[in-house]
This record gives sequence, structure tokens and C-alpha cells, in this order.
Amino acid sequence: MLADLHTHTNASDGQLSPTELLTNAAAAGVDLLAITDHDTISGIAGLDKNIAPDCTVIPGIELSTNWRKIGIHIVGLNIDPDNTTLLAGIMQQQAARLQRSQLIAKKLEKLGFKDTLAGAVKLAGDSIIGRPHFARHLVDSGQVKTMKDAFRKYLGSGKPGDVRDFWAPMEDIIEWIHQAGGSAVLAHPAKYRLTNLKTEELTRAFRDQGGDALELISGKQDPTLTTRLGKLARRCGLLASCGSDFHQPGQPWAVLGEVAALPADCTPVWDNW
Ligand code: AMP
Ligand code: MN
Ligand code: MN
Ligand code: MN
Repeated sequence: MLADLHTHTNASDGQLSPTELLTNAAAAGVDLLAITDHDTISGIAGLDKNIAPDCTVIPGIELSTNWRKIGIHIVGLNIDPDNTTLLAGIMQQQAARLQRSQLIAKKLEKLGFKDTLAGAVKLAGDSIIGRPHFARHLVDSGQVKTMKDAFRKYLGSGKPGDVRDFWAPMEDIIEWIHQAGGSAVLAHPAKYRLTNLKTEELTRAFRDQGGDALELISGKQDPTLTTRLGKLARRCGLLASCGSDFHQPGQPWAVLGEVAALPADCTPVWDNW
């Protein structure tokens, strides 16, 4: 059973259309595919699931929040896309994204960059706007050399463009997911650059607020990390999830369908679906 429960489309900051994503996932042998765009479910709405009958599509979302002023992502899996509580929450997050993009632009302009809001908005088009669109604009307009540089110097964790205001609190986000019948997953716990102790505190806070599962595997990673996170999930009584966090072809650390098996002593999040 190959499950990839964390992927992006061009509804947010991914490159492929939902149809292309599903086609490619099926070709890669994925049995269970969750589409988890940032703060939107619009990618799932128009998708014809019959194009790949052997690949089950799980409606999902990746919602942004904060914990102790650190930007945290929570994945909602197996959600009812028509649930009104969740839809209202998504609208709130999308309004937050727009406010946030104005502040990001202001901060980038202060650093001397030009046309940042118009440039990012234009690149985003109908997609949900995010920091990658700002980074892409800076690179495309010749103001920064590479996407990597844009994040490392201006938009990444702790840099001026890393604006974390406006997001809904973690407990609200978990509640929306539950109202929509979904499972709340703490996404990529190793990517917040926390100490082991802080990661444990975050995981316990997430569990205490009703969280269901820990994402033990995020793309290509050291098996010892998987083992460590598996133990953490078991200690905290959380289920286990896994995904590539695929955004686009050509990123060897996040390949669609390249997801290692979960540790045998963990309970997969899909067990109770
Ligand atoms: P946002 O959702 O606006 O907060 O933007 C976060 C997204 O930016 C992540 O989901 C990644 O897709 C992307 N991202 C974060 N850090 C980097 C980085 N160092 N290089 C390239 N993309 C990044
Ligand atoms: Mn992303
Ligand atoms: Mn994420
Ligand atoms: Mn993601």
C-alpha cells in the first residue's frame, strides 16, 4: 500500500494541475493520494477522479498556523470539502494570506525591492498566493539570483518576509478539520528546526488540542529520523502519516510517490477512515 498524503498542485504553490498530479501519482504506483494545497481545496473541486481508478484521492488541505511564534503547518486529511465550518475557516485563512502578502510586500520594499506585490499577485494568478510567488518574482525580475537565495536572505524562517501574523490559532484549525470529519496531522515536524525537546513540546501541544496524527515521513529523509518520530508519535498516542510534500518535478528531496513505509509499530492515520 503506497500512500502519499501530502502533495501540492497549482491551486497553491505547486506546478502541476490536479489532473496532472493524479495521473503522475497513479503512474508512480500511488494507491492513496491526498491533495493538500496551502489554505485551499479548490484543486480537488474540479478533479475527475475516474481518470485513475486504481488511485484513491483523499481530499486534504495544509493550513498555516503558529505555535510560540513559530510558523507551523497542519494537514487536514479525508475532509468533507462541503463542510461549512471548514469553508468559513478557509476563507479566513485566505483573507489572512492577502493581508499578509501586503505586509510582506511592504517589508520587501523597505529592503529596496520593486513591484513586489504586483509581481507576486501576477505570478500567483488564480492560485493561492504565498512566499514562493514573491521569491519567484524577485528572481524573474533579476532582483535576486536564485529562489534559494530569496528564501535564505529575505523570505525564509526569521527573515523580514517571513510574516506569521494573521493565521488562525492551532486549536481552531484542528476544530475545523474535525468538524469536516477529517484527521488533523502535524506536518513535517523536523522542518521547523526545533530541538528534540521543543519538537516534543509542540507535538504534545498539538495532541492536547485534539490533533490526531504526526507526519513521520516528509519526502526523502534519514530512516533514523523516521524511527525517532515514530517513537514520538507512540509516546504521544498519535497516529502516523506520510507524504512526499511534492510541489514540482525535479526536486529530488520531494518526489511524488517516493514515500518510505511507516514503522510497523505505528498505526497509520488511514486505519480509521
Ligand atoms: P507560505 O505558504 O506563503 O508561508 O510559503 C511557504 C512555502 O514556501 C512552503 O510550503 C514551500 O513550498 C516554500 N518554501 C519554504 N522554504 C523554502 C525554501 N528555502 N526554498 C524554496 N521554497 C521554500
Ligand atoms: Mn509549499
Ligand atoms: Mn508545509
Ligand atoms: Mn506542503
